[in-house]
Amino acid sequence: MIEGLRHILYPEVCVACRSLLQPGEAFICPSCFTEFSQYPGTEAGGSALRRVIRDHFGEEAAPAEAWSLYPYRHSGRLHDAMHALKYEGIFHLGALFGRRLGELVRSGGAAFDAIVPVPLHSLKLIERTYNQSHQIAEGIAAVLGIPVLDRVIVRQKSTGSQTGLSSAARRKNVQDAFRPGRIASPRRVLLVDDVVTTGATMVSAASVLLENGASSVAFASVALTEKE
Ligand SMILES: [Zn+2]
Repeated sequence: MIEGLRHILYPEVCVACRSLLQPGEAFICPSCFTEFSQYPGTEAGGSALRRVIRDHFGEEAAPAEAWSLYPYRHSGRLHDAMHALKYEGIFHLGALFGRRLGELVRSGGAAFDAIVPVPLHSLKLIERTYNQSHQIAEGIAAVLGIPVLDRVIVRQKSTGSQTGLSSAARRKNVQDAFRPGRIASPRRVLLVDDVVTTGATMVSAASVLLENGASSVAFASVALTEKE
C-alpha cells in the first residue's frame, strides 16, 4: 500500500525510454530489456569479445574465457541506459546489469577467486562519486558469491575519453595506465568493465594483474561495441 502510494506520488520512469515504470519495476522497463537484444546463448558474447581483442592485440592478449551481454551501438536505448549508469548517477543500474552478467558467467561453469573492476582514476572517482564497473562487479558478486577487490590495481593515468581514437592510439593511451595496488592479485581473476571497444583498457589492466600474482584473468563486460 505504501509502495503503491509512493508510485502515485513519485512516478518513476525507465532510464532508457522514459515510459512510466510499474510498481516492482526498477530503472529499466521490461520492453527495453527485451530490446537490448542479448547475444544468443552463453558463448556468443564472449567469442565476440575474444575476437575483438585478438584482432587488435593478437592471440597472446586474448583471455581464455570471456563473457559479454550485449552488442553496443552509440545510439539507442542500451546506449541511453549505459550513459545513465556512467554519467547520470543511476548507479543501481550497475548491479542490475551485473546480476545478468553474473548469471551468464555462472552458466559457463568457470570458478574465480575474486572479481576486479577496472578502476577509475582517483580524481575521476571523486568527480563521479562511484565507479560504474564496481557497481557491475557487485551485481556479479551477488550471483557468484565471491568478493569484489578494488585495490588490486590502481589507475595511475587519467586516460580521458577514448572515443574517436584508433586502436593504436587507444593502446598507446592506456599503456602504463595501471599499476599494482595495495593488495596482491588473487589467482583466478574475473576482470570487469562496462563497455569494451577495442579491449585496450582490459588488456592493459590484465597484464598488470598477471605480473602481480594472477594465474588467469577472464574478461566480462556488459556491452561490446559493434563495428559501425
Ligand atoms: Zn524502457
